[in-house]
Amino acid sequence: MNADADALRTVKDADRKHVFHSWSAQELIDPLAVAGAEGSYFWDYEGNRYLDFSSALVYTNIGYQHPKVAAAIAEQAGRLCTVAPGFAVDVRSEAARLIAERTPGDLDRIFFTNAGAEAVENAVRMARLHTGRPKVMSAYRSYHGATSTAINLTGDARRFGNDSATAGVVHFWGPFPYRSPFYSGSEAEECERALRHLEDTVVFEGPQSIAAIILETVGGAPGVLVPPAGYLAGVREICDRHGIVFILDEVMVGFGRTGTWFAAEHWGVTPDLLCFAKGVTSGYVPLGGVAISSAIAETFARRTYPGGLTYSGHVLACAAAVATINVMEEEGVVEQSARTGTELLGPGLRALAERHPSVGEVRGLGTFWALELVRDAATREPLVPYNASGAANAPMAAFGAALKKGGLWPLLAGNRIHVAPPCTIAAEDVAKGLAILDEALAVTDAHMS
Ligand code: PMP
Repeated sequence: MNADADALRTVKDADRKHVFHSWSAQELIDPLAVAGAEGSYFWDYEGNRYLDFSSALVYTNIGYQHPKVAAAIAEQAGRLCTVAPGFAVDVRSEAARLIAERTPGDLDRIFFTNAGAEAVENAVRMARLHTGRPKVMSAYRSYHGATSTAINLTGDARRFGNDSATAGVVHFWGPFPYRSPFYSGSEAEECERALRHLEDTVVFEGPQSIAAIILETVGGAPGVLVPPAGYLAGVREICDRHGIVFILDEVMVGFGRTGTWFAAEHWGVTPDLLCFAKGVTSGYVPLGGVAISSAIAETFARRTYPGGLTYSGHVLACAAAVATINVMEEEGVVEQSARTGTELLGPGLRALAERHPSVGEVRGLGTFWALELVRDAATREPLVPYNASGAANAPMAAFGAALKKGGLWPLLAGNRIHVAPPCTIAAEDVAKGLAILDEALAVTDAHMS
């Protein structure tokens, strides 16, 4: 047995016996053992290389193993590995400044967490304390994390096993021209109806009871839902009319993913609280946080904020954030993400839709896209039903297998493939990924009814 085969068996054996994997039935999974990664690729112990069209979980915005970020983490580890969150320390101050300078409007104070869900938990806590109100509203088509409040705010099926741990969550429907039951053929009308539905819900719940409305600026996990022009500004107005805190969850779309530093910039909207994580360090060390408006920061100027985490603003994570943001500036990563979207991914994916009848819709921006796969282009019947598993999900499983066989690692969700490669992906790798997709879409075309 060669050394690689030996190493693979050791990794797999201990994984099977001792690692409890998230979102999985432990005995029904067979995780790929990853041996290494660089740029837009990772590889296994058997020499198979995968072009990563998922950016891990949509977070390796600058690709894997950027040498400057790896070096900054190593340098920080040699100098000072940790210091409690109550102290001021150079890399934390610098990370906060760099983030605050890039968030919209007066979001100038940064509360650090270790991940996205903790950012959402704390944003909700801040909103409740700031307003003195109990309820929080979120979209059905949303994902906000897996801690108890965040998973209750999440509207998709992942909340089912966790429902009702948090009181006062109210869900509503956001605009979604492709699948909205109210869609009339006009995006502007869909937007107006969604806003009217939201305001009616606010009024019938009692505005005096609602602390916050939380939205993903562009819905990520629910399917790269790009809001119609005017929707976010309309939600901002509803919040202002009723004294409600507006929270934008940019955990997935912040830090260049959509071709701007933060997705809210596309629509010129400033929330009261903005949640971030993932791309802030390209995921090299876990970090998340909440960017806070001056009005909400003022609430806690002379009143203790009752929340915090042992590792808030961990110095290794802050060193990674500083290095990541500097790399993004030096290498023009945000601009590259925008250009890749308008010049390569957008046109390339639309060309695939022309050729493949199972592609019902293409939507996205920057390096953040989704294809809706359907059985019937006219009725838009999804290729697999909502929340399908096992045999019902077989067409998507076969599609995934074809992509992996071609050397592309996909992000599949329901009846969709999300296309989210690193923001730094090279043009030839976009072309290579599109060619692999082109071939694999024959599998989904074969399921057209
Ligand atoms: N919000 C959004 C929009 C997300 O996409 C995610 C993670 N996919 C989260 C929150 C939760 O982040 P984390 O898994 O880091 O807790």
